[in-house]
This record gives sequence, C-alpha cells and structure tokens, in this order.
Amino acid sequence: MEQELQLVADFDFDMIVDFFSRLNRQGPGSQQVTRQALSFIGELSDNAKIADIGCGSGGQTITLAENTKGQITAIDLFPKMITLLKERAICHGLSDRISGIAVSMENLPFEPGELDLIWAEGSIYNIGFERGLREWKQFLKPGGMIAVSEVSWLTDTRPDEIEQFWNFNYAEIDTISNKIKKMEETGYTPVAHFILPEYCWLDCFYKPMQENIPLFLEKYKNSTPAQQLVQRELDEIDYYRKYKSYYGYVFYIGMKNK
Ligand code: SAM
Repeated sequence: MEQELQLVADFDFDMIVDFFSRLNRQGPGSQQVTRQALSFIGELSDNAKIADIGCGSGGQTITLAENTKGQITAIDLFPKMITLLKERAICHGLSDRISGIAVSMENLPFEPGELDLIWAEGSIYNIGFERGLREWKQFLKPGGMIAVSEVSWLTDTRPDEIEQFWNFNYAEIDTISNKIKKMEETGYTPVAHFILPEYCWLDCFYKPMQENIPLFLEKYKNSTPAQQLVQRELDEIDYYRKYKSYYGYVFYIGMKNK
C-alpha cells in the first residue's frame, strides 16, 4: 500500500460526522464486549453516577444502561451524536436514565469526586490515553472505576508500514504492558484487560461502514472530498486485514487509588 496517509481530522467535520453517524457504532466493539468489561465493575447502586465519554451515537450507552443501575451522562463533542443517542435512549425506554451533553472531553461538566464509573469506548485517544486518565481521575470517587478501550500493539515489534501508519494516526499507541504501566503511573490499580475479538472490527464496525458507503457517496454526488474520506476508511480496513495480528483494541479496566 503506497497511498498518502491522511488524518480523519483533515476532512470537513460535518462530513465526518455524517459518515460515522450513519453507523450503530463509531468504533470497534460489541454489546458482548461491553458486558464483558462491565463484569469487572462491582455492583453499582441506583444512585450511581456514570459518565460515557465520547459516546458517539450511543452504541455502548444502551448496553451500559441495560446492565447497570444509576444515571448515565453521555458526552460527545458533536451535537448530532447526542441527538442520535437521545433518540436511541427513547426507543429503548431508557431516557429517564440516560442524559446526553454535547461538550468536549477536555472540559467535562462534572464535580470533583462525583462519578462512580467512567466509560470510554474507542474515544480516549481524542484527548490521549495518559492525559485522559490523569485529567478524568479528579471526577471519580476514591475507589471509582474506569473502563476504556484503546488501540494497542499486540507484539513487541511490527513491520515498518503499520508502525508508520499508527505513529502518524495516533503516536500514543503502545504495547499492552506499557498502557497498564501508564494506568498505574496515573493513579489507578489495573483490574483487568482483554483484547477485543476480530468480529468487533470486521462485523460490528467495518462491515456496516462499507455497506453505507454507496449512500454516502450518492448524497455527496461523488465529490472529491467524499471519495477521499471513503478511500481513507477503506485503506484503514485493508491495514487491519493485513496487520491485525500486530494491533488491536484492548479494554483496560482500573480502579482509582484510594
Ligand atoms: N464510543 C463510541 C463507539 O464506540 O461507538 C464512539 C467511538 S468514536 C471512535 C469516538 C467518538 O469520540 C466520536 O463519537 C467523536 O465524536 C467523539 N469525540 C471526538 N473528539 C471528542 C472530544 N474532544 N470530546 C468528546 N467527544 C469527542
């Protein structure tokens, strides 16, 4: 693959949001994996406060609500995502337990020590793994839990091509052991971690994305930016198919130190 690399953020934001908001989820994951990660979180009370940061259109938010007690505040930078999330909460009869706020994860609207659980599936990379862990910790109660999924190297060495791709897209990508070390350094006790299975990428994320491409291109009349965005995503899928033994998403679950 010799194509020129482009960051997704290089594209028009409205177009990016339109491309991804057509999907049930905006990153690799599944209901089963969300439940698996939740199995490491202790029992939450009816009064528990949960934040779902970078919630997208709410793929995991509904699963969280269905498998926990308490109130969930879902956060996303883009109002369109929050609108979709709210519609979904209503459809599932969960709007009394899920509220949504369009705000940046860099400026969270919580009080210090307010939260029992912070959830962030495929989104902490937007602020950066280390910075997110460090800054969000203030909002957790002592002993509060955090669960984030994050792209990680699965091997100690890898081919140059995939190393360059990820260093360009997300230079903070690192091995699982280094990510766990970062959790410890930022004030958490690692509780569990696991690698997301391939179907979370291929079946739950990339397949629906590919199915939506014709409608997306039709809407934008095959404009050059739309085609470039699509090509960027197709290239990412090719990279995954070729190099999936070297990287993957990993769920990291930790407890804020008391
Ligand atoms: N959690 C969802 C999922 O797994 O389907 C979405 C994951 S998607 C890869 C990352 C999400 O983070 C997007 O919905 C995006 O709009 C949101 N996002 C990006 N930058 C953000 C920021 N600064 N603050 C809050 N959300 C942000």
